[in-house]
Amino acid sequence: MSQPSPALAALLAQHEFSDADIVTLLGLSAADDIECLRRAAFDLTTRAVGETVHYRGLVEISNVCVLDCHYCGIRKGNRAVERYTLSREQVIDAALWAARAGYGSCVLQAGERRDEGFISLIEDCVHEIRQRSQSASLPQGLGITLSLGEQSAETFRRWRAAGAHRYLLRIETSNPELFARIHPPAQRIETRWQALADLRDAGFQVGTGVMIGLPGQTLVDLAADIRAFARRDIDMIGMGPYLPAPGNAMPAAGTLSSDDLLQLALKMIAVTRLVLRDVNIAATTALQALVADGRERGVTFGANVVMPSLTPREVRKNYQLYEGKPCLDEARDDCRSCLAGRIGSTGRQVGWNDWGDSPHSRHFARRSDA
Ligand code: SAM
Repeated sequence: MSQPSPALAALLAQHEFSDADIVTLLGLSAADDIECLRRAAFDLTTRAVGETVHYRGLVEISNVCVLDCHYCGIRKGNRAVERYTLSREQVIDAALWAARAGYGSCVLQAGERRDEGFISLIEDCVHEIRQRSQSASLPQGLGITLSLGEQSAETFRRWRAAGAHRYLLRIETSNPELFARIHPPAQRIETRWQALADLRDAGFQVGTGVMIGLPGQTLVDLAADIRAFARRDIDMIGMGPYLPAPGNAMPAAGTLSSDDLLQLALKMIAVTRLVLRDVNIAATTALQALVADGRERGVTFGANVVMPSLTPREVRKNYQLYEGKPCLDEARDDCRSCLAGRIGSTGRQVGWNDWGDSPHSRHFARRSDA
């Protein structure tokens, strides 16, 4: 087994990291050094959040979107996309399948809509799922994470009151200039930070994240992203490689080779683990688009959450945020057993019938009691 140099060993043992330390770790390029980083992150994961990997069954409710983010395959302006919205029954059915399969929690994700019809559909689905998924193994019902974009503080309160308790809203990049380059002018980074604060006020556990390998993004930007997660006391992280989207409105030129992109995304997971310690970190599907065992590699670099798809197969191909989305044809039962084997291969176990909140979010409970 490779041993780190004394300088790297000392760096990896730190509890506090300067910006320069984070950039150094993200810039490691020798295979032995990256392996030392991976091992440090994996071991810290065991100590800080345990040996369990939590499942969040992912239901992609709708690809209808009112926004035009340049990087995204389902942006409003992409006329090639066949639009769909699942029915209330399809959403509830998928979530109840997750509960019966022992997943413990689900994620409801969609393109952005802010009309009352959509807001009340979500409210209704969340309420029904929480009620109907209660059982001896899940007395409080399924845990529900929402990933439905920027909404008003009032909408966040309604969805929290209906029974959702975690919300994932990526900042995409904390660099305001880069944010402006990848979004239309009406979308502002300040509004997104405000939405993250509103989520906290509404009582959600708050998740965010960034895309890694955006054209023009530097290691200093990524280090600043990790710092921003820490400063805002984020409970969970969902981040992954930027991949060109079908009918892409953003140039792919300047992006990394797929090997370098994978390596950078894995280092980003590991360094985020070292700096944030007790948060949940997802091994996202985009990693698997780069390499078949991408999610498992994410777990060995410090991730502790995976999100198997529960989206009905007939519409899954229409929720293509980027090219090469994996498992388009896999049935949910096959996915459950395939993934459990894959997680086992990393030395971790699956946390069945468990919400899997991050230890960090318990501080959140204390924060709201104060
Ligand atoms: N509308 C919600 C929102 O914006 O938070 C949820 C859906 S949105 C499609 C989910 C995430 O997909 C975004 O936060 C973005 O990071 C990611 N995404 C979109 N296009 C991508 C691409 N080309 N490569 C990698 N990730 C992408």
